Amino acid sequence: MPKCNVCHNHCDLEEGREGLCKARICRDGKVVPKNYGHVTSIALDPIEKKPLNLFYPGSKIISVGSYGCNLRCPFCQNHEISYDFGKEYPYGFREMSPKELADIALEYRDEGNIGVAFTYNEPLVGYEFVVDAAKAVHEIGMKTVLVSNGCVTKEVAEQVIPHIDAMNIDLKGFTDKYYQEVLRGDRKLVMDFISMAAEVCHVEVTTLVVPGYNDTEDEIKELSKWIASLDNGRGKEKVALHLSRYFPRFKMDAPATDVDLIYRLKSVAAKELDNVFTGNC
Ligand code: SF4
Repeated sequence: MPKCNVCHNHCDLEEGREGLCKARICRDGKVVPKNYGHVTSIALDPIEKKPLNLFYPGSKIISVGSYGCNLRCPFCQNHEISYDFGKEYPYGFREMSPKELADIALEYRDEGNIGVAFTYNEPLVGYEFVVDAAKAVHEIGMKTVLVSNGCVTKEVAEQVIPHIDAMNIDLKGFTDKYYQEVLRGDRKLVMDFISMAAEVCHVEVTTLVVPGYNDTEDEIKELSKWIASLDNGRGKEKVALHLSRYFPRFKMDAPATDVDLIYRLKSVAAKELDNVFTGNC
């Protein structure tokens, strides 16, 4: 039976079956991206909304998303796009070629657009479109940004990273237990992805602080120390960290993260890192 090796789930797929991400399917004996060129959302966003605070600050970027995700975070802050797929996509989708997307990016250059960000759902479950569209965007001299959970195999990382200029990657916590039992992910794959990307791209990391799961000072200290140890091959300042506030969404209704806690954790992280930002505060 064909196996998908894009991520840690390594789904075995019979003909016509979709993987756990719902973005890939087995057709004619091969696993292919069902969501190739299927755009569910597109908007011209401030770059800081990605969030990227140190990459062309003040600029805007055409942000594009499809559907599907390979993790199962119970508090997903974007679940309408990532999870509520199936019979009818909530927003529908329009088909778009890589060239059409690049043309849209160019059309908005005069409004401050610097390129295209792949975001909203998990872009790497359809990494083929990311690579093709990123090439088209580079051909017209514009920038590419990826916003990802980074939970993919090394083979996919090697194909994607060379085509991206800047990334915001989630490092959702710093314990295997949290990644495995709550998010259904693989922390090591994510850390490997961040390490590989930081050597060649501009990288910023985001941690969504969820009360009771990843909110201790010790955990944020260890996570920050690891980020500080990354080999930033571009010889600039250390990789930046965004500590973001959780809000009750999807299957989780615990109260939102206390703002004071976010600021306390920011001061812990700032002992290790040059740039720590708060989000949703
Ligand atoms: S990308 Fe999707 S189909 Fe492939 S292994 Fe991961 S969850 Fe399964």
